Amino acid sequence: MRQPIIAGNWKMNNTIKDTKALLTDLIPLVADSKAECVVCVPYTNIQTAGEMIKGTNIKLGAENVHWADKGAFTGEISADMLLELGVEYVIIGHSERRQYFGETDETVNKRVLQALKKGLKPIICVGESLEERESGVYKTLLEAQTEKALAGVTSDELDKVVIAYEPIWAIGTGKTATAQEANDTIAIIRNKVAELYCKNCAQNKLRIQYGGSMNPKNASELMAMPEIDGGLIGGASLKAEDFSKVVKY
Ligand code: PEP
Repeated sequence: MRQPIIAGNWKMNNTIKDTKALLTDLIPLVADSKAECVVCVPYTNIQTAGEMIKGTNIKLGAENVHWADKGAFTGEISADMLLELGVEYVIIGHSERRQYFGETDETVNKRVLQALKKGLKPIICVGESLEERESGVYKTLLEAQTEKALAGVTSDELDKVVIAYEPIWAIGTGKTATAQEANDTIAIIRNKVAELYCKNCAQNKLRIQYGGSMNPKNASELMAMPEIDGGLIGGASLKAEDFSKVVKY
């Protein structure tokens, strides 16, 4: 029922020239993928990427969106600006935004509501630190992050929402949660969504990705787990061959 979704998060990498080279290689490599394939690119590359992937099976994503329609918010980007360039997905609440740029559960929620209102599909990131995992508070923390991010989202909108479970200790570190750990933690999030909405909504509408050092070597094991509907891929999305192997796990 839930189509797998693999999304690349390029972060602050790739100039327009790099974008052209990477997508030229990537487009034929993922042409026959069964999973939905998304590239979330820096703002300056959205137009180029959008033109290049038109007519292919790669979807376009951005790395953030502001909650206001427009106005005096220097350095931010609006949903209309993204939509005009063909953006379909937007990453919201990545741990790097939370850690370095003051993103909170409240601002995440405001961005999610704006994305959905405007017709963008949010990829909402949640995740715990190593300390929170080891002390055991991660379960309550993830449930709270999920509930706060989804406040005001209707059950009809859940099929447009993707949650990315990203343990912070596994992002860019080469450490991956074991497939079982990732699966069990995603089940905690899905159960919370079932409690907040309904079992059917959580089972059939909502897709939950794993993110954190997912790569061509561990993708198939992670994707074989019943709760894991996809991946949010950082480092491995910067090389066409690696990313295509994850997309076709
Ligand atoms: C990410 O930034 O979302 C991520 C999962 O990064 P990496 O794959 O490099 O750990």
